Amino acid sequence: QAKSIGRNTFQIYTEEMDAETRKRALMAAALRRALDRGEFRLLYQPRLSLTDGKITGVEALLRWHSADIGEVPPDVFIPLAEETGLILKIGEWVLREACLTLRRWRRNGLVDVAMAVNVSVLQLLRGNLPEVLERVLIEADVPAERIELEVTESMVMANAEQTTAVLNHLRDIGVSIAIDDFGTGYSSLVYLKRLPIDTLKIDKEFVGDLTRDPDDEAITATVITMAHSLGLNVVAEGVETQAQMDYLREQGCDEIQGYWLSPPLDSHHCLAFMRTWQPSIVPEVMP
Ligand code: C2E
Ligand code: MG
Ligand code: MG
Ligand code: MG
Repeated sequence: QAKSIGRNTFQIYTEEMDAETRKRALMAAALRRALDRGEFRLLYQPRLSLTDGKITGVEALLRWHSADIGEVPPDVFIPLAEETGLILKIGEWVLREACLTLRRWRRNGLVDVAMAVNVSVLQLLRGNLPEVLERVLIEADVPAERIELEVTESMVMANAEQTTAVLNHLRDIGVSIAIDDFGTGYSSLVYLKRLPIDTLKIDKEFVGDLTRDPDDEAITATVITMAHSLGLNVVAEGVETQAQMDYLREQGCDEIQGYWLSPPLDSHHCLAFMRTWQPSIVPEVMP
């Protein structure tokens, strides 16, 4: 009797388990197999200097096509990978793949290009990221100086003490550090000054409303001024229009990234894009 009650309870539970929870459980199982099945790939989005019109580098962006559930966007699977801890292995794959791509490009003559890689705060807190990084750099034979690690503002600030130590270690290896999605968190100037960082990336939420929303213009202009006074490089992400680009250039923003320049591309198309790029074909960009 106890047995049948148990079974009934289980049935009621599964029936009442909401569709969303079941979907996530299935997705977590698929994600666990994704690396072995080779379901990940990286796209690369170019970044443009507004001071000399050159392509300074690219950001590696992860894509997952699951054989079971199809294409899943990073905003959905990255949080799941973080919750399940799978991000540690996935993040290592991303770092290695990005560095191997950079090596290929460098062998094709693009030696000045930098590679930005997104890392989860879990990789900073729980993983052995400095060791992994050093190993991958040697394996791929790329200089640390050409690698930039992007960590999101909110995640760093929530763990400022611990992350600062790891970021210092990473910087000692020679990579640079960018704070991603800047403006969405709650950084105090004090923390920003203390953090071992090189670059601020202004979140696309603000950039998207430039030339439409005076508040977002004020925030963006202030962030640029503040970043420069702290000696930081500023990148605006999600730049989609010429008007946004013009505004950012007027405000002294250093670099931009977004659909206006190029969407994320596979490594071959990205290489072709960078090779054919002529600073002179964007005279508007030149000061
Ligand atoms: P992010 O690092 O802030 O990356 C920028 C996002 O903006 C990318 O979304 C990119 O495709 C998108 N984007 C680029 N240009 C434009 C534009 O002009 N307009 C608009 N509206 N969007 C633009 P994506 O590729 O979907 O990635 C979403 C987020 O997922 C990333 O945001 C990053 O936080 C995370 N992510 C992606 N790849 C990785 C990874 O390898 N590791 C980790 N930990 N996170 C990753
Ligand atoms: Mg990023
Ligand atoms: Mg961002
Ligand atoms: Mg984002």
